[in-house]
Amino acid sequence: MTSPASGADSAAVLPDYAPIPRSALGPALNEQGYYVGRVERNLYYVTDGVYQSAFLTTRDGVVLFDAPPTIGGNLRRAVDEIAAANGVTNQVTHLVYSHHHDDHTGAASLFDGDVVRIGHEETRRLLERDNNPARPLPEITFADQYTLDVGGERVELAWHGPNHSPDNIYIHFPGHDTLMFIDVVNAGWVPIYNVNLSEDVPGYMAAPPIALSYPWTHFICGHLGRLATREDVAVHQAYIADIEASAREALASVNPVPFYVAAGENAWAGVKAHLDAVTERAAAPVVAKYTGVLAAADIAEFTYTTTFQIMQSLRLDSGPSGPVHP
Ligand SMILES: [Zn+2]
Repeated sequence: MTSPASGADSAAVLPDYAPIPRSALGPALNEQGYYVGRVERNLYYVTDGVYQSAFLTTRDGVVLFDAPPTIGGNLRRAVDEIAAANGVTNQVTHLVYSHHHDDHTGAASLFDGDVVRIGHEETRRLLERDNNPARPLPEITFADQYTLDVGGERVELAWHGPNHSPDNIYIHFPGHDTLMFIDVVNAGWVPIYNVNLSEDVPGYMAAPPIALSYPWTHFICGHLGRLATREDVAVHQAYIADIEASAREALASVNPVPFYVAAGENAWAGVKAHLDAVTERAAAPVVAKYTGVLAAADIAEFTYTTTFQIMQSLRLDSGPSGPVHP
C-alpha cells in the first residue's frame, strides 16, 4: 500500500466525530492567534482556543495568572494591547502560578526582571524538582491561604488539598465576581484522558463543590476558548457522578470469576479481561448520554480512561477492593 508522504506538513486523517456544539466554542482568534477579553472591570483572560491565562491591570502594575507556552509571546501582546487601550501601565509586576505543570507555566521566564512570583509551597518544591529554567521558582509561597494586594485590587489564593495536581490552587477575585481554578472542569467539554490527567481522584471529585462554595459568576478553567459558568460546573459534576454510579454498578454486577478461570495461570490476562469488561459496561452508557451534551464525549477513550481511573479509585481509595478470603 502506498501513502502520501508523511511529514510535519501533511494533514492527519481523523475519524468522523460528532460536531462540536457552537456553545462549547470560544470567540474567534485574531491574526496572531489569540483572543483577549474582559472578564469584569480590569480583569482579562487570554486564550489561544486551547489554553487560558488571565491578567489584572492595576495602577501599580499588571498581575499575570499562569503563562501557558502555547500562548507564549501573545501574553505580552495581549497585556500591551489592553494596557494601551486603557492608558495603564503594561509592566508585569506579579506572576501567580495556579500549579506547577509546564503546559500552564512554561512561558513564565518571558516575564523576568522585577517580577514577584507567587505560588503554593508545593509548587515551589515541584518546580525545584523539575529544575526547568523556563519556570522560575516562586519567591512568595503559602501553605493554605494568601491574600495578594496590588494597586488597590485584592486576590485570594487558597489551597484546599490535592486534586488534579498536589499543588493546584483556587484563585478568587472577590472584586471581580470570578474564580480561576485550572484543569478540573473543562467548560462545555469532557475531561481528557484519565480524569483530565489528574493525580488524586478523590480530590479531583471533591473539587467542584469547593469551587461552587465561592461566590462567583465567571470561571476561568484554563482550557478551550470561553469562560465557564456555574451551569458548566454542574454539568461536569453530573458527568462525573454518572461515571461514579455506573462504575459502582459495573463493579458489583460483573462477576470476575469466569475471567480468572479462563485466564488459567496468566493471572494478569484475567485482570485485563475483568477490568475491561467492567469499564465497558460502566462507560458505554455515559458516552451515549453525553454525546451532544459535552463536546468530544464521543471520543470514547476519554470517558473510558476516566471511568477506569474512577473505578480504580473506588476499589483502592474507597474500598473494598473485593471480598475478604474466609
Ligand atoms: Zn495541569
